[in-house]
Amino acid sequence: MQYISTRGRAGALDFEGATLAGLASDGGLYLPEHWPTFTADEFAAMRGLSYVETAVRVILPFVGESLSEDELRDLCTQAYGRFAHAAVTPLLQLDHRHWFLELFHGPTLAFKDVALQLLGLLFEKFLARRDTHLTIVGATSGDTGSAAIDAVAGRAKIDIFMLHPAGRVSDVQRRQMTTVLAPNVYNIAIEGSFDDAQALVKRMFNDADFASRFDLSAVNSINWARLVSQVVYYVYAAVRLGAPDRKVAFAVPTGNFGDVFAGYVAARMGLPIERLIVATNVNDILHRALREGDYSQGTVIPTATPSMDIQVSSNFERLLFDLGGRDGIALGEQMKGFEATKAMRLTNAQRDGAAKLFTSARIDGDAMSRTMRWAYDAAGQVIDPHSAVGLAAAHQVELDPSVPVVTLATAHPAKFRDAVERATGTRPTLPSRAGDLFGREERYATLPATFEAVTSYVAERAVARRG
Ligand SMILES: *Cc1c(COP(=O)(O)O)cnc(C)c1O
Repeated sequence: MQYISTRGRAGALDFEGATLAGLASDGGLYLPEHWPTFTADEFAAMRGLSYVETAVRVILPFVGESLSEDELRDLCTQAYGRFAHAAVTPLLQLDHRHWFLELFHGPTLAFKDVALQLLGLLFEKFLARRDTHLTIVGATSGDTGSAAIDAVAGRAKIDIFMLHPAGRVSDVQRRQMTTVLAPNVYNIAIEGSFDDAQALVKRMFNDADFASRFDLSAVNSINWARLVSQVVYYVYAAVRLGAPDRKVAFAVPTGNFGDVFAGYVAARMGLPIERLIVATNVNDILHRALREGDYSQGTVIPTATPSMDIQVSSNFERLLFDLGGRDGIALGEQMKGFEATKAMRLTNAQRDGAAKLFTSARIDGDAMSRTMRWAYDAAGQVIDPHSAVGLAAAHQVELDPSVPVVTLATAHPAKFRDAVERATGTRPTLPSRAGDLFGREERYATLPATFEAVTSYVAERAVARRG
């Protein structure tokens, strides 16, 4: 299996190469050159499988020669062995047609663990074969940073430098990062906003002099290996609800379009998905794009669902590529236009293609709070604000009533305790696997939001590129 860039100018890579590279050298994102498919019988045969065995079946066609089946099984067993629930991603019934797919039983209480726990192990496995030491640099507003740090802490041949805006992440989120004292983990509190931190990271990647001194890598959801591991839970949930004999719909709280794109991949592989419901908060670029073809960037409005406060959805480019005839050169031009003007129109082929599978809904703060109260009153469930945005969209969109609707529950409510308490009057407690988060020592550096301060801090500690 080879991976090609959405912008048509970078060379193809195998799974190992695409995993380590993250972004393609032409600025595009990697996608498999074709979609592997399963027959109805092959899906039906997955009904009794464990999560790990389902993961092996679903991921194996994508890894090509990069891993043997036994190696993949070994990595999945390690990654999902760290989850606190024996089903890994259990389904919970809310009423006669709505279900909740709980993706937050990993070590850092958000769905990003599903992908990052495996990605950390893949990095380690692939690096062991090469004379390369990876320097991961990232900026986080909360969930990605803690999940990435947990996934790579203590691993050989990897250092991680994670920037967060000082004083602007929650105490739980900060402590999940800063109490990890492994020697390869460097937390940096930036005296500025998340946008400042992100701009510093982008500049490090784009600075030819700095970038040439280290093997830099990224852990955000542009990495193909992250997406492929998320395809697994769509299959796992759907076959439990009767697929392939019955169609299932999914509602997905969406930010960077990574999670819902994994659902699209599952559909391309043959899983009978009735609808993918893209749920946004008031930062609604995806809702406008899917409804009106208008993909234009607004200014970010802070909400109670910070992981969805996004105005550019990186993985949307993958959908546009696949729906637009996979013409990388044309898409490269379209994306360049967007980067220059912060706006673009979808082509008719892209709009019509998307309309066949996707429906979107924009959920404001009131609808989110109402839905949190509904889940509590109707099903006795305390749910997190992001999952509530997904569930509100699931309630709003009209569908054939015989189709079960699965909302992806992307975070544990204790990760967003204040917002949950405001909406429901109940303050969720941290599960015991979070440990004595508030009793542990914290370690982090505080730096001014300048390129010089951050690059000299990283350069003093990172391992230089060889050769
Ligand atoms: C990251 C995140 C999302 C958004 O997922 P995307 O893949 O970026 O669309 C939603 N909810 C939570 C809790 C998250 O951490």
